[in-house]
Amino acid sequence: MTNPIILTVDDEPQVLNAIERDLRRQYGRDYRIVKAGSGFEALETVRQLKLRNDPVALFLVDQRMPGMSGAEFLAEALKLYPEARKVLLTAYADTEAAIASINTLGLDYYLMKPWDPPEQSLYPVLDDLLSDWAATVPVPYDGIRVAGTLWSASCHNTKDFLARNRVPYQWLDVEVDASAKELVEAANKENHRFPVVFFPDGTVLVEPDNRSLAKKIGLRTEAAQPFYDLIIVGAGPAGLGAAVYGASEGFRVLMIEKEAAGGQAGMSALIENYLGFPNGLSGADLAQRATMQAQRFGTEILIGQEVTRVSVEGSYRYVELSDGTRLGCHALLIATGASVRRLDVPHIKWVIGAGVYYGAPLSEARHYPDQHVFVVGGANSAGQAAITLSQYASKVTMLVRGSTIDKRGSADPGAAMSQYLVEQVNATENIEVLLRTEVMKVSGRRRLEAITITNRDSGETITVPTSAMFIFIGAVPFSALVEGVVERNPAGFIFTGQDLPRTRFGKFRSWSLKRDPLFLETSVPGIFAAGDVRHGGITRVAAAVGHGAMVISFLHEYLKTV
Ligand SMILES: Cc1cc2nc3c(=O)[nH]c(=O)nc-3n(C[C@H](O)[C@H](O)[C@H](O)COP(=O)(O)OP(=O)(O)OC[C@H]3O[C@@H](n4cnc5c(N)ncnc54)[C@H](O)[C@@H]3O)c2cc1C
Repeated sequence: MTNPIILTVDDEPQVLNAIERDLRRQYGRDYRIVKAGSGFEALETVRQLKLRNDPVALFLVDQRMPGMSGAEFLAEALKLYPEARKVLLTAYADTEAAIASINTLGLDYYLMKPWDPPEQSLYPVLDDLLSDWAATVPVPYDGIRVAGTLWSASCHNTKDFLARNRVPYQWLDVEVDASAKELVEAANKENHRFPVVFFPDGTVLVEPDNRSLAKKIGLRTEAAQPFYDLIIVGAGPAGLGAAVYGASEGFRVLMIEKEAAGGQAGMSALIENYLGFPNGLSGADLAQRATMQAQRFGTEILIGQEVTRVSVEGSYRYVELSDGTRLGCHALLIATGASVRRLDVPHIKWVIGAGVYYGAPLSEARHYPDQHVFVVGGANSAGQAAITLSQYASKVTMLVRGSTIDKRGSADPGAAMSQYLVEQVNATENIEVLLRTEVMKVSGRRRLEAITITNRDSGETITVPTSAMFIFIGAVPFSALVEGVVERNPAGFIFTGQDLPRTRFGKFRSWSLKRDPLFLETSVPGIFAAGDVRHGGITRVAAAVGHGAMVISFLHEYLKTV
């Protein structure tokens, strides 16, 4: 943490140097003394200090300056540093202005020039003010600050990216915090895009994409080599499983992740059914442990980079990244998982990220204390979200299309919950489950204000006010990157092994080799798929990890043939 600052302003160079010298002598050990030769220059300095979140303890400012008086400067500077102590240096003729400033600006003191000897006329006053400031003003946050509005989708993305990559940040809501608003306006004058991200070194990013953020927070975004034995796309449990086993067996492995290591599992508040953790562990914890393990064995991991396209040239496989980089490999693993299915109801696109969230209870739950919130869906992830939210909200209502949330009685077990979660949901007093219920409409101007729900049997339709709805209604695979390259089912899940489509004569339709495809091999030899993106994937962390690890034994077999 940098020393607090005393900023002194005077347009007469000799006076400015004299006061600087006196301040430095008495306070130079504990404070940074900064000087400026005009109100305008000082204001620019104040803006720069605020961008870095450096603390300003005291303004000591000449009242009579051309262009901008001391009082005028203080009025502006206090918008950014309302808690700084403020002293005007005045001549006899200025005392009236100084007295007026006591009322208008809350001026702490005015000193007559000259202030000689400083031991009597300057230091006692400043000592009091500085010790008062130090005792009452909290130490400013010296990490990353994200400023924006709670109801903005891009603010939500940035917060989610930082949180999932375990980067602490301070959230500044410009709608409720006047100094945050000033700060944003100082940094982002010409347009009103959010979020504005302030870094401790003074740099500012406006509405950044994942790659720029990743680069800025020190994550690797560029590959060290042009070619690898194995490239893994996606750092969820399947990708991490393959990375740990692949690198530990001596392969040169590159893993590319567009958001954060851990994938969907990283968003889980508590994974209770993963082998070896009887008390459960958070998805973030599992992700961090696995990432460290993969890196310790030598896996290179790029974060904030998206693979947009996969191609094949002879025995080489290539990936193209969103920044245009092309990287090659002997074998490729598609472990891109799936995302929550979108809810298709009128008006919803206007309030995504503004009260309507797809799979984000961890980062958003605390914004809804003592409120009535809704969770759409009846499978495990919806149950976990409801339990997380119930710790903050006054009431959580689960809206479930089916007739039960219990796998055992469900016509569609994939859309129901594991027994342990059913028991927890039922035992949580502030969770209500409405079965056979669908969302028909959402409403709200700038953010979610109400939802309209209907009972599928009775047709009864009601509109309920709420400010938050979290949606977990099944999955859509991230497989566009292999469209036209490998065979996928109509929903986009990737076929592998014996599931590859066959001709009516029982032969694989688009498989080119004499041997059969390996268990996790796609219709292109040497391109594998594992985890939730695979047709027949089991949507469990353990299954994804296991299949990821299995790919490495297939990789040994495959490499013998090329
Ligand atoms: C909230 C929640 C709670 C859950 N709880 C449990 C639980 O308690 N127990 C359990 O067993 N299972 C649980 N699951 C299911 C489990 O998390 C998934 O089955 C598992 O994460 C699938 O792993 P994966 O590696 O196949 O895919 P994912 O975890 O989805 O990871 C895929 C990764 O690939 C990245 N990616 C996608 N496309 C690209 C691209 N083009 N370029 C670069 N990167 C890309 C994604 O950003 C993502 O990080 C939960 C799921 C959710 C959503």
